[in-house]
Amino acid sequence: MLPGPNEIIKCTNCDCLYVKRTLLSGNTFGGVSFSDGSAFYPMMPQFPKLISCSECDTLFWVKDAPLIGTCEWEDDICEDWQNAMELTFPLIEEYLLAIEQKIYKSIDEEVYIRIQIWWILNGLRNKGQLTQDENFLYIENSLRLLELVKPNIPDNILIIAELYRNLGRFDEAKEMVLQLNDNFPSDIKQKFLKHIKNKNTKTFKL
Ligand SMILES: [Zn+2]
Repeated sequence: MLPGPNEIIKCTNCDCLYVKRTLLSGNTFGGVSFSDGSAFYPMMPQFPKLISCSECDTLFWVKDAPLIGTCEWEDDICEDWQNAMELTFPLIEEYLLAIEQKIYKSIDEEVYIRIQIWWILNGLRNKGQLTQDENFLYIENSLRLLELVKPNIPDNILIIAELYRNLGRFDEAKEMVLQLNDNFPSDIKQKFLKHIKNKNTKTFKL
């Protein structure tokens, strides 16, 4: 893993500073990925695209935050910006607020927020920890994702298949998996088909 320069950015509403870390290279060694597309790679950390300011609670897109300066990776964080905070992924309540406040400007941005919600709820659902309200939210969020995600690229076909499987719509899930082209790894395709056949609605490790 080779870190790139650290950019210092500022909240779009207050003077709070954040360190936007970058990676020049990383790898998926030792990582684990799941059927819903979520993954954990120790050698390739993921960074949030949307954050909630810890000072003023403003939700903002990291790409929209003013750039204050850049520290070369050797410096870690330059002396002038020692107080800059790490970017952390929002909590589910904050993502829900982002939906309520419609802070997205494109379909891609709405999809990004709803996928984060889907992943958090899948984690709880797999442990059997979804409350009735969360289950309602889970269904509503999944149905909205099905409206938004178009099957024009293989990754999206898999997301759609997975949403159908999560919702117990196994025939539609199978139909989507069968649409994956021959370049798609057949072992992964078979795993999806096996879980559909077994009528499993939970997320599984790939
Ligand atoms: Zn702020």
